[in-house]
Amino acid sequence: MIEGRINLYSDTQSRPTLAMKQAMLDAAVGDEQKALDPTTNQLCEYVADLLGKEAAVFLPSGTMCNEIAIMVHCRPGDEIYGHVDSHILKFEGGGPAAFAGANIFPLQGERGIYSAETLEEAIRSPNRYAPTSRLVVVEQTANFGGGTIWSPDEIKAVTDVARKHGLTTHMDGARLMNAVVASGVSAKVYGQYFDSAWIDLSKGLGCPIGGVLAGSQAFIDEAWKWKQRMGGALRQSGMLAAAGLYAFEHHLEKLAQDHANAQRLGELMGQHPNVKMMTDTIETNIVLVEIGATGLSAFAVRDRLEEQGINIGAFSPTVMRAITHLDVDSEMVEEAGSSFVNTINEMMEGKN
Ligand SMILES: *Cc1c(COP(=O)(O)O)cnc(C)c1O
Repeated sequence: MIEGRINLYSDTQSRPTLAMKQAMLDAAVGDEQKALDPTTNQLCEYVADLLGKEAAVFLPSGTMCNEIAIMVHCRPGDEIYGHVDSHILKFEGGGPAAFAGANIFPLQGERGIYSAETLEEAIRSPNRYAPTSRLVVVEQTANFGGGTIWSPDEIKAVTDVARKHGLTTHMDGARLMNAVVASGVSAKVYGQYFDSAWIDLSKGLGCPIGGVLAGSQAFIDEAWKWKQRMGGALRQSGMLAAAGLYAFEHHLEKLAQDHANAQRLGELMGQHPNVKMMTDTIETNIVLVEIGATGLSAFAVRDRLEEQGINIGAFSPTVMRAITHLDVDSEMVEEAGSSFVNTINEMMEGKN
């Protein structure tokens, strides 16, 4: 990928602002491994409290938050229940199998959200032949569902089923704060249903690095062991944690603007008659479109847009994804939306 002027590939593409960098420069620091980094300690306490958990740990990435949580919860031969399009299943290099020795049972459901009935049907009755059912994972928001929001009722329903069967529960909250801002439901309300949950700092919050994983004290003690083993235990991480604290204070309200921008971008992209929005409404900052009816390859459209300095992702031959974030303003959205439609028109004419 060549990075363009208008980068809608992902909200991971946002850069730390000058003010965020200043907060990083000013951070009080110490040795994180010895719990002597005051800023990292403060961030962990903040996120634990935000999610209504006893404790939290700072990790270098969201992927590590998922993988460490899975290693703490699962043993070899265990089975995890997650959506077929979930990040843990598709985008973590087979981590659950590689690290924890666990299977993922892929659950179906519209908008990246599966129902309690679907989960109930999938859970295996305990027997010698079957994998051991262990963990239920909910992705909030559902990335490849189109940034969709699980309602508290939907979460309650699936986690009730999990608990009924004695399973543990984990929330991949990479974009939890987008759900919080869009729905007005607090992180604590979403978090209460889960044994473990985490928030990504380097998505919409705009930090350069990091995620924070929260759970019970016993869970975090075990998570720390994996962090240490894997070389994820840090030293003066306060400079990174300071970015996180800054983001929670200053960037949450910006998420609302990202959502408005995504709404507008979807309107513009959807103006092409052969472009189909993959969700009825754009709930947060992700626009997912199906362009099969154009007869064009999504990869070719992506490349043509890239030549114009616009990055929009292609995730299959017919599916494209655009994500708004704090480095994308409304002018850029207008340009990207009209270039997308014009490019498709030009390419369709070129084909005939
Ligand atoms: C981005 C993402 C992750 C991984 O986070 P990184 O910080 O990029 O490692 C996990 N889950 C979901 C749903 C994501 O969107």
